[in-house]
Amino acid sequence: MVGSWPRPPELLGAQRAVAAGRMDAAALERMEDEAVLEVLRIQEEAGLDIVTDGEQRRDNFYSFVASKLSGVRMMTLAEMLDLVEDKAGFEEILRTLDVPAYSISNPTCVGPIERSQPLAVRELDFLRRHTDRPVKITLPGPYLLTRSMFVQEVTRDVYPTKEALADDIVRVLRDELGELARAGADFVQLDEPVLTELVFTQGRTRTFMCAALAARKDPAEELELAVDLVNRVVEGFDDLRTGVHVCRGNWSKKEETLLDGGYDPLQPYLERMRVRQLVLEYATERAGDLIPFEGKELGLGVVNPRTDTVETAHAIADTVRRALSMVPADRLFLNPDCGFGTFSRRPVNSTDGARRKLEAIVEAARALREDVEFADPGSAPA
Ligand SMILES: [Zn+2]
Repeated sequence: MVGSWPRPPELLGAQRAVAAGRMDAAALERMEDEAVLEVLRIQEEAGLDIVTDGEQRRDNFYSFVASKLSGVRMMTLAEMLDLVEDKAGFEEILRTLDVPAYSISNPTCVGPIERSQPLAVRELDFLRRHTDRPVKITLPGPYLLTRSMFVQEVTRDVYPTKEALADDIVRVLRDELGELARAGADFVQLDEPVLTELVFTQGRTRTFMCAALAARKDPAEELELAVDLVNRVVEGFDDLRTGVHVCRGNWSKKEETLLDGGYDPLQPYLERMRVRQLVLEYATERAGDLIPFEGKELGLGVVNPRTDTVETAHAIADTVRRALSMVPADRLFLNPDCGFGTFSRRPVNSTDGARRKLEAIVEAARALREDVEFADPGSAPA
């Protein structure tokens, strides 16, 4: 899995009830535990080698940090619309991207950033207690957090520049990585989908989902900043499998509203990120052709989370055989292009559709393991 899984409707209802003060947090936590156990059961039954908790406790892949960090306030897109000067332009962007202004909120920096509680250690502890399989934990990447949290109109009173905010975000993520490593995380993935916005929008839009009203500089400068931030976060965590996930948006099933372009313009930057694995979408045609990334494991996207049609194991295996000409088997991981429920209120697939896609991946992996020679026969790839 890349990370997320659709949440049961009763869980979403309970999260709303807690937010409105109609239900106590302990009751919600029990429901979240049950939802995670169900996602875990589905993954184990499907035969996945590495499991996640389906991000069941999160509203989406990055805004959940608002409840764990001080200095952050959730702002709806409608509130942000009030702040921006070019309202018509911003509304046009939301329409073009198929993002309803009421549906998504943005964690906005309004004070000094401190970790008031760990971001994901509890998620890890719970999984660890309930599975023997290796566990992947996803975290929003430092560049994504900086871009989304720095809303100039309110943040500049606290941090004069995006870079100043980034220093505190790096510190917070390093503290988190240290705790996750000590608590036995096998794989920590940093989500940096906003990188594609830098290279595939050619300055036409100023935002990716709700993130980033911050005035954007030259894309090359921004990509350099992203490389620097990721490298500062992972520095010294050599024993932990770290990864970066990049995709072109996962908020809509309308493929034409999502970003489009191959990895070539990102390649030199992704190669310089000192993470072990790149988790990349490739099932969608919008991602272009497979290109080599020197010295990295590849998390190869082999199913599109947004389509109702389930890819066949045969077709997946064919794709992987082509990839094996570029990536050795022991560095190749198979995963969906992205999560199945990036935004809790907008899952891109049903539980059943998602489960069948995972089963297809596992079936392909089993067939491949029978007929592919691995560099080191002692260690089958995940
Ligand atoms: Zn993604």
